[in-house]
Amino acid sequence: MKETLHREVVIVGSGPAGLTAAIYAARAELRPLVIHGPQPGGQLTITTEVENYPGFAEGIQGPELMQQFEDQAKRFGTEFLITFVNKVDLSQRPFTLWTEEGHEIKAETLIVASGASAKWLGIPGEAPAPEGLGGLGVSACATCDGFFFKGKSIVVVGGGDTAMEEATFLTRYASRVTVVHRRDSLRASKIMQDKARGNPKIDFIWNADVKEILGTSETGVKGIKLQDNKTGEESEFACEGVFIAIGHKPNTDVFKDWLDMDAVGYIKTAGVSMATNIPGVFACGDAQDSVYRQAVTAAGTGCMAAIDAERFLDSLPVATPTGEEVTIEGEVVSADHEQITMPDGEVVSNHPDGQPPAEGANQPAVVYARPSTELPS
Ligand SMILES: Cc1cc2nc3c(=O)[nH]c(=O)nc-3n(C[C@H](O)[C@H](O)[C@H](O)COP(=O)(O)OP(=O)(O)OC[C@H]3O[C@@H](n4cnc5c(N)ncnc54)[C@H](O)[C@@H]3O)c2cc1C
Repeated sequence: MKETLHREVVIVGSGPAGLTAAIYAARAELRPLVIHGPQPGGQLTITTEVENYPGFAEGIQGPELMQQFEDQAKRFGTEFLITFVNKVDLSQRPFTLWTEEGHEIKAETLIVASGASAKWLGIPGEAPAPEGLGGLGVSACATCDGFFFKGKSIVVVGGGDTAMEEATFLTRYASRVTVVHRRDSLRASKIMQDKARGNPKIDFIWNADVKEILGTSETGVKGIKLQDNKTGEESEFACEGVFIAIGHKPNTDVFKDWLDMDAVGYIKTAGVSMATNIPGVFACGDAQDSVYRQAVTAAGTGCMAAIDAERFLDSLPVATPTGEEVTIEGEVVSADHEQITMPDGEVVSNHPDGQPPAEGANQPAVVYARPSTELPS
């Protein structure tokens, strides 16, 4: 074994969610440890221009933005490890994480910010520039990149809800959107299909496999090479943008024996907090968000996860997915805030005088004191 580390806050992932959690936890003097994983800086490091991250009026290159996040986290004392978490034991606190490099890491609280990966076709021309045309006309995010395709002809690859949503959204900008699907019918739900099929700017090409994305780093995307999977016939289709919309995979496999997830692998969080089913483990960013998947929402939930971890370490109750609240000592506040189950099983009233409040009395069910250690200004 390489070394054993023991920290109050360990953050898995260094995308916008993980690094924002690090900035908050570091400023609360919790000396967080961030484990970079396979993609230091996260998904934005494989894109070019980011125009929708607030605070950068002229836009900013993805890698440069993520370097700013990292520098800000380092400024307040965040530690970093360049390695990959390949095993965890979340059965008791401190939680234990093992890395590919042989570290054993003990964590009083754990923030999972391991993100998600867009699924790709694995065809020539698809890789991020300079190897391919990724960022030069190839994208997997219409919200992020649709704006760059005003008046252009775009192809969307896929046949599920994601593809229908991306295609419909892209008609705001594009002159024409062509959905290319490898079957002769869509997998998308009826309502999404109806919206797309009823949109006069959307066409469909059926039973077609995309074999290659055509273009150069000078021209950007110029078209795609298609093969009809019924007849084998090959053809080229001219377009200026290609959106791959075949789904996303959260990077959460290493946690799957411990954390509650949906069928795809997105971690379930409380909604009103970033708590998971295990007290002391929080999740943020794309690892738990199948809907918004933006840098700013990832950063926002990273902030929430860090504040939740701070509260938990300060012995304050933190909401869980069941609606109950838990403390680090193991007290459980019922979802209606009426009672507390103590670690030894004793159930007590959650009212200051032990009595239920008089009807109509304006009495808070739980008294939330801010942590004595306020964030340093
Ligand atoms: C090409 C592209 C362009 C985009 N453009 C925009 C845009 O313009 N604007 C916008 O708002 N959003 C954009 N997005 C979406 C945005 O990048 C994501 O929503 C955001 O990065 C999610 O942040 P995150 O921190 O949750 O996860 P990620 O950025 O996915 O980071 C995950 C982190 O977890 C680490 N990790 C994973 N597994 C492990 C493990 N086992 N052990 C340790 N570490 C691990 C990874 O190395 C990585 O550091 C784009 C995405 C892509 C792919």
